Amino acid sequence: MSQALAEIQGRIAAAEARAGRPAGDVTLVAVSKTQPWEHIAPVLDAGQKVFGENRVQEAMERWSQRREGLELRLIGPLQTNKAREAVAFFDVIETVDREKLARVLADEIQKAGKAPRLYVQVNIGEEPQKAGIAPDEADAFIAACRETYGLPVEGLMCIPPVDADPAPHFAKLRAIAQRNGVAKLSMGMSDDFEIAIAEGATSVRVGSALFGRRAYA
Ligand SMILES: *Cc1c(COP(=O)(O)O)cnc(C)c1O
Repeated sequence: MSQALAEIQGRIAAAEARAGRPAGDVTLVAVSKTQPWEHIAPVLDAGQKVFGENRVQEAMERWSQRREGLELRLIGPLQTNKAREAVAFFDVIETVDREKLARVLADEIQKAGKAPRLYVQVNIGEEPQKAGIAPDEADAFIAACRETYGLPVEGLMCIPPVDADPAPHFAKLRAIAQRNGVAKLSMGMSDDFEIAIAEGATSVRVGSALFGRRAYA
């Protein structure tokens, strides 16, 4: 039993209803990075199935022995030298953001004979310190993923600037998805997931509101 999980699920349901969206439209990705197992266990026991992790190695250490029936998503930057492990391990990679990575992922998917679902990360606020393809390069990059590398793009992901109103950034990501025929939108975190749902998020990535504040960043 996890009161935090029940509370977040309730807030998601209320946000779906306010947006006139069907119940269950939005997937909760529980972001378990850096969390001690005693914070994760109650959420897992309460039936949460989808978890997000930032680092390949850390995710494998945490989940390898217990991943049966779960969906694991990589939501942190992926280095090309970890692409093989990431393809083997994750169900979804949300951080495809450059041609070199697309090329290496295409190779590794071919070799593995198995493909994770892929999202393109967009640097929606055009912040130099953040990963993601620039918004004005997104259309060409999505086209290259599909046509040059044969990678289906299931969704787009973004992390808006911390100190800004996130709504216009979420709307901008939705517009990029719509004009490129991309179905899914991974947007919204602990502080802004209800706004993201109003703007069309199909999955929200919630860490600290679910598990407590992380011990380190
Ligand atoms: C850590 C992280 C989250 C979760 O952040 P909270 O504010 O703790 O909910 C979501 N998305 C990404 C990409 C993250 O790195």
